[in-house]
Amino acid sequence: MNTAVQLWDGQLSVITTPIPHVSAPNEVLVKVAFSGVCGTDLHILAGEFPSAKCVILGHEFAGVVSEVGGEVKGISVGDRVVINPNTNCGRCSFCQKGQPHFCKTGGIRSTVGIWRNGGWSQYCRVLAETVYSVPPQITLRQAALIEPYSCITHGFDLLMPLATSSNVLICGSGIIGLLWASLLHFHGYRKVTISEVAEQRRSLASGLDTGYQVLHPEVLVNNGKEANLAGDASWGFDAVVDCTGAPAAIEQAIKWLRCGGKMLVFGCCPKKSSIKIDPHEVYAKELKIIGSHINPFTFPQAIQLVKDMAEKYLNYDKLGIAVFDLPRYQSALDALSRAEISKAVFEL
Ligand SMILES: [Zn+2]
Ligand SMILES: [Zn+2]
Repeated sequence: MNTAVQLWDGQLSVITTPIPHVSAPNEVLVKVAFSGVCGTDLHILAGEFPSAKCVILGHEFAGVVSEVGGEVKGISVGDRVVINPNTNCGRCSFCQKGQPHFCKTGGIRSTVGIWRNGGWSQYCRVLAETVYSVPPQITLRQAALIEPYSCITHGFDLLMPLATSSNVLICGSGIIGLLWASLLHFHGYRKVTISEVAEQRRSLASGLDTGYQVLHPEVLVNNGKEANLAGDASWGFDAVVDCTGAPAAIEQAIKWLRCGGKMLVFGCCPKKSSIKIDPHEVYAKELKIIGSHINPFTFPQAIQLVKDMAEKYLNYDKLGIAVFDLPRYQSALDALSRAEISKAVFEL
């Protein structure tokens, strides 16, 4: 039998079904090993993010192939794999321009674990095109971080060029802020500041041993005011990566950008929210405001990155990631909502 956690009309429950089989020649059946809980899942549960009404959640997962359809090439039973949950049609105007993440029917409108049954399940049936091999150096536990890193890699690419001597601010040290901090350190950035309201999250950020400054945003507000009073125009940041998805945090941080500064809007803000920007500042300081949405073409890069960052950067304990059995999903969600952990991953 197959055990899964299903969302039905806003409520989660454990379901048991017969083990699925591939039903089309281009499908692969994956026996899931590790499957993450993403911030998006929490938004879906809170009714703040669209999803299928009845669906098995989980879009960050890795496992072992247990069945392949007749036309599947290059993937065999027993292969260790990770799933890129996003697909695209290949035909619409965006796909034709090489922007599959804006696909009119694909992208976030097609995601496995949001619109099709996903990885909070012992077995998951996926399209062969979404399946990537995991190199032997990567554990399946680490491989559960490939999907989040595929999104971060896209954001990082959009932020380039950015000299390693730049002053960078990461707003928010939930798991995404922590993964960004790890990535920037891995790439040689040493002048990074992390701002975070919650004390527990600040201590996780300090525990990463990056040597990065970790502050309450109020401290930055005061530092900014003091610099202003002293006429110090050099105070501020060359780049800000917002991982809070809080419009007020973004509005504030844009004011802290130096000349030529870039604001990367990485966190997902509520729809139809608004902020105030002084366009004269954008003009005079040549500011850039950059959005980053999911993971076009970055899966191979993210696999390489997770391989290279390895345990030095991706240790679950250091990152505050806790592993739960799938039927204990409620404990996982409770620990997340109390911010006792930065992320929950199910071990199947
Ligand atoms: Zn996610
Ligand atoms: Zn398309």
